[in-house]
Amino acid sequence: MKKQYLLTPGPTPIPPQVALKEALPIIHHRTAEFSAIFADVCEGLKYIFQTKNDVFMMASSGTGAMESSVVNLLSAGESALVASCGNFGERWTKLLEAYGVKTTVISVEWGKVVSPEAIAAALKADPSIKVVYTTFTETSTGVTNDIAAIGKVVDATSAVLVVDAISGLGGEKLLTDEWHVDVVVSGSQKGLMLAPGLAFVSVSAKAWKYVEAAKLPRFYWDWRKMKKSLATQETPFTPAITLIISLQEAIRMIREKGIENVWKDCSVLAKAARAGMQALGLELFGDNPCEVVTSARVPAGVEGGKIVKLLREEYGISIAGGQGALKGKIIRFAHMGYIGKADLLVGFACLEMVLAKLGHKVTKGAGVAAAEEILLQN
Ligand SMILES: *Cc1c(COP(=O)(O)O)cnc(C)c1O
Repeated sequence: MKKQYLLTPGPTPIPPQVALKEALPIIHHRTAEFSAIFADVCEGLKYIFQTKNDVFMMASSGTGAMESSVVNLLSAGESALVASCGNFGERWTKLLEAYGVKTTVISVEWGKVVSPEAIAAALKADPSIKVVYTTFTETSTGVTNDIAAIGKVVDATSAVLVVDAISGLGGEKLLTDEWHVDVVVSGSQKGLMLAPGLAFVSVSAKAWKYVEAAKLPRFYWDWRKMKKSLATQETPFTPAITLIISLQEAIRMIREKGIENVWKDCSVLAKAARAGMQALGLELFGDNPCEVVTSARVPAGVEGGKIVKLLREEYGISIAGGQGALKGKIIRFAHMGYIGKADLLVGFACLEMVLAKLGHKVTKGAGVAAAEEILLQN
């Protein structure tokens, strides 16, 4: 019996107003009542995506929407480019290879960001590349890629740009249309403050030409079916009714606050988290730290996994450790969605105690004090 604090980069805590919607009796989806909610949610998503393009919803985790962005845009044997800087960038490569797409990979060391110039050079060297896949906030390392610059590069070619914004959307500034992002992929359980199980894609007119020409096998993920149903405010298959109703409430909360203020708050929390880590003697990890999660290197002599385990067991606080090659080497502290200033301070207070228990020398209160300083200034 311990109060639980979810400070992981997905899933994230759900506001009580949103959770209550999930508890309501189910309604039927082929009704005027549901269609009105669905239409409202579709409009709200356009605001959060900052796009005029259609946004499609599917009942899956974010990876389902990633898969839909492969099968709807390409044919077997065609070429794609992946610009990867971490675990989620590598997921694009695995997906494309599973479908027999010829894949060129530009990958940088984890913790670094992808280079727009390298993408420009790769597109120039191989004009047969049809789609460029990359990641907005690479959650596995905690860095942000320069999507505006990458968008400019890809927009100047006939290729389309697909961006995995599963953790960044609704946390860090992302301007889909202004930055020329053809397809933005996202999911429900991060910045959007919902339970896992809903995934989203926005699709540009430029990408739509590819959708019509693509020959990879697709059925459940077929965006053509989704577009057709959208015209009558429906989905091709049973939608995740409960999640969509709760999403309406989450969008209402985001609209009430204003998306710019959501970005600003995440940015302040990120600054506070970075200051807190440094005050505890932890070196920040990653070149261009993102605003939805803060990564720091585990101090020498301490086992990263133990920090995560002790925080959960002793204080009910969940943060994330490293993935893949970074397992045990970094910790990741999320500050997106419904995670607020007070949660951050609680997290840092307990992190200090855990570090002290594990033998890392900390001045007690130093992390909290550094974070407070930033919060007071903003
Ligand atoms: C969480 C995450 C995913 C995976 O999404 P699932 O919902 O687990 O399928 C993919 N990409 C990024 C950047 C993520 O943060």
